[in-house]
Amino acid sequence: MRVFNFSAGPAALPEEVLRQAADEMLDWRGSGMSVMEMSHRGKEFISIHEEALADLRDLLDVPASHRILFLQGGGLGENAIVPMNLLGTKETADFVLTGSWSQKTFKEAHKYCAPHLAASGQTADGFTRSPARAEWQLSDDPAYVHLCTNETIHGVETFDIPDLGDIPLVADVSSHILSRPLDVAKFGAIYGGAQKNIGMAGVTVVIVREDLLDRALPICPSAFEWKTVAENNSMYNTPPTYAIYIAGLVFKWLKKLGGLKAIEARNIEKSKLLYSAIDSSAFYVNKVERASRSRMNVPFFLADESRNEDFLAGAKARGLLQLKGHKSVGGMRASIYNAVPLEGVKALVEYMKEFEQRQA
Ligand SMILES: *Cc1c(COP(=O)(O)O)cnc(C)c1O
Repeated sequence: MRVFNFSAGPAALPEEVLRQAADEMLDWRGSGMSVMEMSHRGKEFISIHEEALADLRDLLDVPASHRILFLQGGGLGENAIVPMNLLGTKETADFVLTGSWSQKTFKEAHKYCAPHLAASGQTADGFTRSPARAEWQLSDDPAYVHLCTNETIHGVETFDIPDLGDIPLVADVSSHILSRPLDVAKFGAIYGGAQKNIGMAGVTVVIVREDLLDRALPICPSAFEWKTVAENNSMYNTPPTYAIYIAGLVFKWLKKLGGLKAIEARNIEKSKLLYSAIDSSAFYVNKVERASRSRMNVPFFLADESRNEDFLAGAKARGLLQLKGHKSVGGMRASIYNAVPLEGVKALVEYMKEFEQRQA
């Protein structure tokens, strides 16, 4: 039996994708081999790789000015890889903090430069908002400005993406890439691990404006130097082949559903259903400012926290899994990525109502 999986990552994948991968596991389309067993330089894998790149470009409407790279190292790896690639001769980069992930990014940057804190969404209730552009206090000459457009732990999403003119805007989009259209042209670079909303762990997607490829620091490892990776079409070293194949199947699944506008409509419906269940009850609370509420990660608290274990046990008995909040914030969190169906959110909301009634 398949459960409804609300994990923050690695996370649910579309059942159709898993079935297709299972069907093709031993013999990929007459090749007599599993994708895992193929040379990354053979024509079969090259075709998988090229199709994944083309489908992602098409889905996200990536402009010709930007390159798509498939790397390894995850979102946290990029916290070092980004400064090593973009600092050039500059001494600082600016950071907007909206939650734990951007905090980590800011901290790691200290190894490579003197980073500047431009704005923070931290309030007495923790990270509950994404500061607007008017609140950002940029330094005089930053190499780039970094933002995490969806904070997976705090459930804070940034919807209003500013245009910074000549200053490259860099975003960690790990947990909401492909959940809605994104104007990639506004960014110098975006990056994200695949295991939230793209596919399986192992591949990190980086989309970078081509004219920024000449700014790497000499210490940057060649395998993580975007220019080297781009010149070798993400095959400077062996790419995470199976993870790229799975991502490619997810891209096809999204295209079949109607692309990012269509998945956005589904994500709006799912998140509205869950937030309205939380807001219409005094028993459940979400503290994030409405305009910054994430459509992908929905943290919430029970008014009576002594019921947390009961809540989780009852949910598990119904096949609603991985609802425990991140240990740093406690409470609950439902991650409702693209692959979590509306039925899953409906089942969760129904359970939440019943659980609340039981307490009365
Ligand atoms: C999960 C996550 C990360 C960390 O990704 P890893 O692949 O584990 O390095 C970084 N940023 C965000 C926003 C995330 O959701």
